[in-house]
Amino acid sequence: MLSLIIPIYNEESNIPNLLVRSVEALTALSIPFEIILTDDGSSDNSLQLLRAAHQKDNRIKVLSFSRNFGHQAAIFAGLSHANGDFIAVIDGDLQDPPEILADFYAKLLEGYDVVYAIRQKRKENFLKKAAYKTYYRTLKAMSAIDIPLDSGDFCMMRREVLDKVLAMPEQSLFIRGIRTWVGYNQIGLAYDRDKRFTGEPKFTFKKLMQLAINGIISFSNIPIKLLTRTGMLIILFSVVYIIYTLIKKFFFGDVPQGFTTLIIFISLFSGIQILGLGIIGEYLVRIYDETRKRPLFIVKEKLL
Ligand code: UDP
Ligand code: MG
Repeated sequence: MLSLIIPIYNEESNIPNLLVRSVEALTALSIPFEIILTDDGSSDNSLQLLRAAHQKDNRIKVLSFSRNFGHQAAIFAGLSHANGDFIAVIDGDLQDPPEILADFYAKLLEGYDVVYAIRQKRKENFLKKAAYKTYYRTLKAMSAIDIPLDSGDFCMMRREVLDKVLAMPEQSLFIRGIRTWVGYNQIGLAYDRDKRFTGEPKFTFKKLMQLAINGIISFSNIPIKLLTRTGMLIILFSVVYIIYTLIKKFFFGDVPQGFTTLIIFISLFSGIQILGLGIIGEYLVRIYDETRKRPLFIVKEKLL
């Protein structure tokens, strides 16, 4: 059996098409399937539409959160309810064409354990594209694991891999990172990411930043290493500078006019210090989150 996981947040205008195209694409694979849609606290008609779809076709299953817990939590909830031997994830706005699932499935049958999508062309504005490109390259350069470039959560994996992913009770969810981290035989397939079918992106800038930061902090300790190294360099530099100033003052008697220098240094170093505290804070917040062990989501309603 194949499970398809779809996060839904205010997608009422996409749901009818999404379901038709997904059911069609999965039917073409001639394998039993279920579609698990997580309603992430939608305030529009999404949940009603999903309930109705479940009534008509019980292969369509619905989880509904008690509030908006975010895209990653919605996917994770779906994943943790999946019964399939193969599990796929797509977005609810039809940016990830369900038809590509056939190619993913073929790859799994060839023997791969995970097939993930690589976004070849994004139909998005220039700035957003540039930001994504830069981010994925920075993440790759910084992280301890080899997170594939330009790949999101759009993927298909085997049960065995999913079980390993689910066994990781991380609070700062970055599913594509965990999925890479577990290893196994993974392969990327290039595809052209479509435009969102209808409606506005549900990812606010804030949510996107949070996801981006989670990716870096959860899979890299370079920020904190960088901090230590910068700190050491600065200390070295200032010791040299202090010796230089003292020699100048006591042996040559010309007191430096260094007011400007002073200002520059004080401001520069306060900046570095604050940045450093910020980076430490990022880690602390995550340690705090992890130790609190709050649930990642609360499911209010289940139609399975
Ligand atoms: N989504 C969600 N919870 C959120 C934000 C988004 O479940 O808090 C869903 C949304 O309905 C969509 C998917 O996650 O199915 C991707 O969201 P979006 O298209 O806004 O992201 P983008 O394509 O801009 O990265
Ligand atoms: Mg989208």
